[in-house]
Amino acid sequence: MLITRIPGDPSKPIPTPVIAMAGGVEKRDSDSYWIPRNELIAIFLEEIEERNKRNVTDQGRIHIVMGSDVTQVRIIDSQQNANNIDVNNENRHSLVEVTSNVFDGEKENTYEAKIVIGADGFNSNVRSRLSQIDGGKFGVKRYKSPAAGLRYKVLQMPYGMNVPNITGTVPLTMRGDSLYSFLSVNKGAKNEIRMGCLPLKDPKSPRSTNIITKPNHAIWDITDGEEMRKWFQKSFPRMSFQHESEGGIISSAEWSRFASAKGGAFPSPGVSLNMQLSSNDETCGVALVGDAVHVFPPDLGQGVNSALQDVLVLNQTIIRNGSSQDKSTKLTLGLALKQYERDRLPEAKALVKLNSHVGPYQYKQTGLVDTTKAKLKVLNILFK
Ligand SMILES: Cc1cc2nc3c(=O)[nH]c(=O)nc-3n(C[C@H](O)[C@H](O)[C@H](O)COP(=O)(O)OP(=O)(O)OC[C@H]3O[C@@H](n4cnc5c(N)ncnc54)[C@H](O)[C@@H]3O)c2cc1C
Repeated sequence: MLITRIPGDPSKPIPTPVIAMAGGVEKRDSDSYWIPRNELIAIFLEEIEERNKRNVTDQGRIHIVMGSDVTQVRIIDSQQNANNIDVNNENRHSLVEVTSNVFDGEKENTYEAKIVIGADGFNSNVRSRLSQIDGGKFGVKRYKSPAAGLRYKVLQMPYGMNVPNITGTVPLTMRGDSLYSFLSVNKGAKNEIRMGCLPLKDPKSPRSTNIITKPNHAIWDITDGEEMRKWFQKSFPRMSFQHESEGGIISSAEWSRFASAKGGAFPSPGVSLNMQLSSNDETCGVALVGDAVHVFPPDLGQGVNSALQDVLVLNQTIIRNGSSQDKSTKLTLGLALKQYERDRLPEAKALVKLNSHVGPYQYKQTGLVDTTKAKLKVLNILFK
């Protein structure tokens, strides 16, 4: 993958693209693209609609509930499940009970299920509830990473924008499917900044520009749009960041949105000690997937792939087991969930450890301590 590093100083020429380095590993392919989160979710929703239309009767329909927050998850064992006693008092069964609130907190719904999948991200409420049911089994083992705690937010730039080059040369026309890094003219731990544009498949996509800094950086003190615009214009004199009435490429509305956005912070790498819990009679249970199990800063871009692998293995384990005709080898649901955990937890642990070491300085953290550590890290890799 090639990167064009654009100096903020307009008197310096825009250099030709070079091979991007990620975690000390050269990436030579030029056809890697990022998918914006909203587009990935749209793909999932489209597939759900298609699937519901296909009406696969033995697999049921997927019903989506929006604007609702899961607040409670309980495993109710058959012994306690007084509601499910049939007339002969023999057919008690266990169930997982999920309670959710509509966001205004007015209405509460309760659902009963045989299996609940907690795919609710790194602050997983489902995991917290399992932890309440089973003591320390769902604690999270944390690792240190120099990328943890970095704050980020996104500025939208138009696609196909022209970036002026030195006098007498043609401007650079930005492509949606190329990688760019804009370097500020200001230096110093709290003022130096970079704007990063990742390649997207659609060359006409608006350019989402990632701003990633340490939490004490100057931009986090600016909440007014006009003040933010002026700060960026001073930092990137090459760019047309003047007021929109003077031909600036970014609208006042976008500067205001960007200035007031709280952004997010990279989590520290962490892995849940367990991935599933079932009822004592092993007829129902809860499984965790994705960031609810393993979380790390996006250094290696493995969050979505590893979440999808969890889903794939969980699906295969349950389907394979459910369709098995051989009663002697057929597992209970509880044992199938344990099998899923045995298959996935070692990889989740390894991935989290890997993410605490490989590439945490790619965000060009400012300050003497971090720049020195970043150089030592490169030396360490070279000597290995
Ligand atoms: C800045 C940034 C950049 C990243 N870049 C990459 C990248 O380039 N490549 C990559 O592979 N990964 C990347 N990741 C990581 C990736 O986003 C995650 O690994 C991935 O989204 C995990 O998917 P998930 O479904 O497990 O969790 P999430 O995507 O976090 O989804 C959890 C969902 O659960 C919902 N939810 C939470 N609590 C509740 C509740 N109580 N009730 C109901 N719903 C709830 C949330 O609203 C959310 O929709 C990045 C992450 C960050 C922060």
